Parts: sequence; structure tokens; C-alpha cells
Amino acid sequence: MQTIDVRSLVEELKETIDAERVSQNDTILEQHSKDESYHTPNLPDVVVFPKTAEEVSKIMKLAQKYKCPVIPFGIGSSLEGHVIPVKGGISLDFTLMNEIIDIREKDLLVVVQPGVTRTQLNEALKGYGLFFPVDPGADATLGGMAATGASGTTTVKYGTMRNQVQDLEVVLADGTIIHTGNMAAKSSSGYNLTSLFIGSEGTLGCFTELTLKVHGLPEYVMAARAVFQTVDDAVNAVVDVRQAGIPVARAELVDEQTMHVVNEHSQTDFPVKPTLLFEFHGNQSGLMEDVRLTKQILDDHNCRDFIYETDHAKRNQLWKVRHNMAYAFIHTYRGRKLMATDVCVPISELAGAIYHARKALFKSGIPGGIAGHVGDGNFHVTLMIDTNNAEEIARTKQLNKELVEYAISRRGTCTGEHGVGLGKKQFQRLEHGAAFDYMKKIKDVLDPNRILNPGKIF
Ligand SMILES: Cc1cc2nc3c(=O)[nH]c(=O)nc-3n(C[C@H](O)[C@H](O)[C@H](O)COP(=O)(O)OP(=O)(O)OC[C@H]3O[C@@H](n4cnc5c(N)ncnc54)[C@H](O)[C@@H]3O)c2cc1C
Repeated sequence: MQTIDVRSLVEELKETIDAERVSQNDTILEQHSKDESYHTPNLPDVVVFPKTAEEVSKIMKLAQKYKCPVIPFGIGSSLEGHVIPVKGGISLDFTLMNEIIDIREKDLLVVVQPGVTRTQLNEALKGYGLFFPVDPGADATLGGMAATGASGTTTVKYGTMRNQVQDLEVVLADGTIIHTGNMAAKSSSGYNLTSLFIGSEGTLGCFTELTLKVHGLPEYVMAARAVFQTVDDAVNAVVDVRQAGIPVARAELVDEQTMHVVNEHSQTDFPVKPTLLFEFHGNQSGLMEDVRLTKQILDDHNCRDFIYETDHAKRNQLWKVRHNMAYAFIHTYRGRKLMATDVCVPISELAGAIYHARKALFKSGIPGGIAGHVGDGNFHVTLMIDTNNAEEIARTKQLNKELVEYAISRRGTCTGEHGVGLGKKQFQRLEHGAAFDYMKKIKDVLDPNRILNPGKIF
């Protein structure tokens, strides 16, 4: 990419939208130079805060004229360097596009702008008896979540962002505005462009409006904590619960190292043992039967303690602690940076994958722990690394590579939910084979000048 005439670009941007929404303030540039990961930051040339799809379209047309990179930005909570402007350019911040446009309760759909966060949406839905289930640990934007194909603790019952997005309004690299879907419950019409754009990480277009599926709040909810002597027992237990077809809404593993860090950070006193956290949604009688069956299976795997939490406040505290897990590591190991592996394997391969990962983690000597959305075969090794220590970074990357190669050899994936960004680029060929060439061809059709989030995925 040739050198950009930044001065003229900024002047034209200021003529195109309000000048005060075009910023080269040092603090704002720095905030848009990084995400929550260990990847090296790099400053954008300018940060722009659009308010409408038409403005985004005009910005894209200007970016084409200057052959200038554009990096869509939600709240920057991604974990693989997704929003780092590796070649400078425009960081396009969607914070001001944060309106909930329409709640269509009869259709179980909502229409939102991309800067709406998941907790903002759930606050608004409460009064309608509805909720939006996808819950990554951070209070991410729905635009960012669609762009990374995010998921969370409830995926085992409700699915990922891929299952929740009904339609996207997308501004393409040349400024054209398209819709990828409609509001009908099903459609056999044409290619599924919605699916193509979900997980595209800002490399194919900018989302300016999302139509999302929402769900009725369950009549009855029960959470449970199950404590085990070994991680193997906990993992085998969750695999059996899934194979028995019990419709759990959440099934999360926390190993003893992670539990220790969590207790220190959140001032809790959970047993420092491998633990499964469950949640069940349904009507009271069916749910009691699900819980009884689950307990029976866990007992067969030497579960020592099975503690119910029906109380709303206690349940919320349990999941708050779970969502704060990454922050617990970040605060405990100040001065170090978080690197979270993210493989996902078929459920039948989960026990082997976690056994392999634990051996590799202990051998590496890097501080960390294992936790994950084990109900769907996805787990994270959280590693706290000293980014000034080149040898430690190399050891961490080697560990990640071993885990990814293991997962792919079992028909799994290098990333269950965090996405590719900078960190998983090197595994794309291994995972996708010849299909990877066709992804590149799609990118070339939609963004021939490669101005959308360059350096990511490819
Ligand atoms: C503590 C913690 C816990 C986490 N837990 C989880 C988890 O359980 N599950 C999970 O999936 N993730 C998790 N994450 C990662 C992160 O929260 C998700 O990747 C989230 O989806 C990113 O949303 P964001 O709004 O921060 O997007 P950003 O980080 O700002 O952007 C992410 C990507 O989306 C693109 N993008 C943003 N907005 C748009 C738009 N409007 N149009 C097109 N592209 C856009 C960006 O260019 C970038 O490539 C966690 C992160 C943290 C810090």
C-alpha cells in the first residue's frame, strides 16, 4: 500500500462528517491502537466516529480514493489483535451508533445499531420478558460480536452469534450498502451472505445495522456447582451429560489453578478443585428431572459436592465470577499480558484434548490455568506472559501451536470463538486446506484494494 496523504484525507473527512467526530488526539489514537491481547499495538492515523450508514458509505468512498486502510472498532475487547491498525489508516469507531431501533416482540427479533452492547440490549429486553443469550466475558458490542462470530457460556443451548443473526446491513468496501437477509423465520433464497459476513472480522464490510433473534426468559432457572477431585473426572462427567441429551443451558469447567486466582480476585471461597458450573432453563418439573439425572451422572464420576443455587442473587454472583475470570488473571499477574488459547474439538475428543493441554501447560512453566465452555467442546488455556521476554513468548507460541495441531488433527478448529485476527493466521492453511484459497478469492471480489482491516485472517 502506498503512503497515504493523511493531511488531505483528514481535511476531506472533516468536510464529510462533523469535524469533532474526526480525531487525531493522542489519547484517542492510543486507545484505538490495541485490543485486550498480548499483540503489539500500532497507532491509526485518525479515528472517526460515524452516526449513520450513509456516513460510513462516504468514509469508505474516501478511503478508496486514498487507498487508506479502514479498521472497524467496537469496544476493542477482542483477543487476537483484531483491531490493531497494523498499517495505520482510519479506525472506524461505532460507539455513537448505539441505538436499539426496534423490538419486535411478536417476531422474537430486535433491530440494533452495531455499537449497542450485549448488556445494554438485555437491559432493554427485560421489560418484554425477553433476553439475548450470547455472552462473551466482556461487555462487547453486537457489531464486534457478529464480526468475530462470538459465543459464550450459553452456546450449548442457544448457539453462537452465527445462530442469532437474521439480517445485516453492510457497507461494502466501495461504499455500497446492502442487506444480507430478511425477517422471515426461514428462507431458501440465494446464497447465505449473512453467514459469510459473520466472523469476517471487519475484512469484508462494516455492519451498520443488525437484526437479531431474541428468546423468552425461561420460566425457571437453576444453577449448580459440582466439585471433582480430578479434571479428568470433571471432563468425562460433562461429556456423559451431553451424550445423555440433558438440555443444559450452561456447562463450564474451571480448573484448580483458575479457581485459586478467581478466589483471590473476587474474594470468594470456592473449593480450589476442578469444578463444573451448570445452569438449567425450563419449567420447574422438567428441570428438576434434568438436575436429578445430571447429579446421577456426576456421582458416577466421583463428584464430591453438588451445590444448587436457585437464589437469583447467588446465581448472578456465580456467573459474574465466571465472566470476570480473565480479569482475575490480568489483575493477579500485573505487568504480564493475557494470551488465551481457544481450540474447540468434537465433544468425544474433549477429554483427550484437555489432558494433552494440561500436560503441555505444566511442561511450559508459564503461569496460567484452564477454563472453558466444555459443554460444546471449547476450552481456553489462559497464559500470563511477560511480553518483554522473547524466549517466553516463543515458548507460549509453541504451546499454542501444539494445542492447535492436536485439535485440527481431531477435526476440531484453532478458534472456537475468539476469531483469527493476527494470532491464528498461521493455522488457516492447515485447517482449511484448498478452501482457504477460495476465502482469498471472496476477499478479492469484495475488497480488491485490500483496505478493510488489512493483515487480519490472511
Ligand atoms: C475478559 C474477556 C472475556 C472474553 N470472553 C469471550 C468469550 O467468552 N467468548 C467470545 O467469543 N469472546 C470473548 N472475548 C473476546 C471479545 O469480547 C469478543 O471477540 C467480542 O466479540 C469483541 O467485540 P468488540 O465489540 O470488543 O469488538 P472489537 O474488539 O472492537 O472488534 C472485533 C472485530 O470486529 C470487527 N468489528 C467491530 N465492529 C464492527 C462492525 N460494526 N462491522 C464490521 N466489523 C466490526 C473489528 O474490525 C475486529 O476485527 C473476551 C474478551 C475479554 C477481554
